[in-house]
Amino acid sequence: MTDTWNKRTLAVHGGTKRSQFGELSEAIYLTQGFAYDSPEQAEARFLQAGEDEFIYARYGNPTVAMFEERIAALEGTEDAFATASGMAAVTASLMSLLKAGDHVVSAKALFGSCLYVLEEILGRYGVEVTFVDGADLDQWRAAMRDDTRAVFFESVANPTLELVDIAGVAEIAHAHGALVIVDNVFSTPVFSRAVDLGADVVVYSATKHIDGQGRTLGGVILGTKDYVRKTAEPFLKHTGAAMSPFTAWVMLKGLETMDLRVRAQAEGALKLAQALEGHAALERVIYPGLAAHPQHALMQEQMGQGGTVLSFDVKGGKDAAFKMLNALEIIKISNNLGDAKSIVTHPATTTHQRLPDAQKAELGITPGLLRLSVGLEDAGDLIADVTGALAAL
Ligand SMILES: *Cc1c(COP(=O)(O)O)cnc(C)c1O
Repeated sequence: MTDTWNKRTLAVHGGTKRSQFGELSEAIYLTQGFAYDSPEQAEARFLQAGEDEFIYARYGNPTVAMFEERIAALEGTEDAFATASGMAAVTASLMSLLKAGDHVVSAKALFGSCLYVLEEILGRYGVEVTFVDGADLDQWRAAMRDDTRAVFFESVANPTLELVDIAGVAEIAHAHGALVIVDNVFSTPVFSRAVDLGADVVVYSATKHIDGQGRTLGGVILGTKDYVRKTAEPFLKHTGAAMSPFTAWVMLKGLETMDLRVRAQAEGALKLAQALEGHAALERVIYPGLAAHPQHALMQEQMGQGGTVLSFDVKGGKDAAFKMLNALEIIKISNNLGDAKSIVTHPATTTHQRLPDAQKAELGITPGLLRLSVGLEDAGDLIADVTGALAAL
């Protein structure tokens, strides 16, 4: 029956498990352990846990399982494993698969912590990583080797909003037998077509649009039953980055309203980008939903909409950008995104601070660049806030 349900229905009802009380809203099973009827039952469950049989919350929990089933149904994957944060999901998606001697090809424009994992951590364990310009398929092609085990990229890169052609990279990777792992945060599960386009593993920071209200940290790894249960799960259940049942409940409730929120936020982001395009105080406005964005056509095919985040470069560099930030009244200076509250970030001095200046320049993280995650406020008020702050320059 759920096979015929559309996303909005799955987001509300998918994965629900009810106790003998028939509670309407999902229960929070705030328990670390599960009592067995007999030692024989414990023995059998440790050998092979069946459907709806749990052992220990680090391995799985009924509330967490509801979240996993619901998000897998939405994304169109066979299975999912929920994690303590988005970074736990990114790290486990790679570390659970790779061993010393393996090779990975990755886009170089990444969220700061993703870059740290690929640039600093994997190498320590003997995994070689080649970084490429994610938008250039020739570079992906040239970097592939016989020992390339996986490719990794953000479908829309943070904070420069450059898209990677999922279908194009998947075709190249699959020709070499490499697994395609996509960090899909900026696409959001609402606009994602990642699996249709060839992604094997999709990773989300649930902290972003899935919670969507800045309350909890979480993440999820989605893929085939085989990858999730035989590769990701053994690594995760023994290394311990489990999602708490309370967090899973917050995320379940987040999924119920995600479609409405994300569509409203994307609408606001488009209005804001259109209002700021060509503004005299700005060097450039970056938003894939603008017709002028060089990857506008790819965005339409891959996401259908430009997403909830835009970036813009303030003329006058860091000083001008800081002056503008100090003049804002509604939009908050913080570093989350996908939140109901609009949030602005200065990547060069925060999320990407540790990168050398040359690397920042290469990635397009200029001194005046600001990333704006559009929330649920009135778009007119947000436009007035930004243009008012720019007028202060
Ligand atoms: C936020 C983010 C992460 C990390 O997620 P956390 O939940 O903060 O650990 C990873 N990738 C991208 C693209 C992100 O935006």
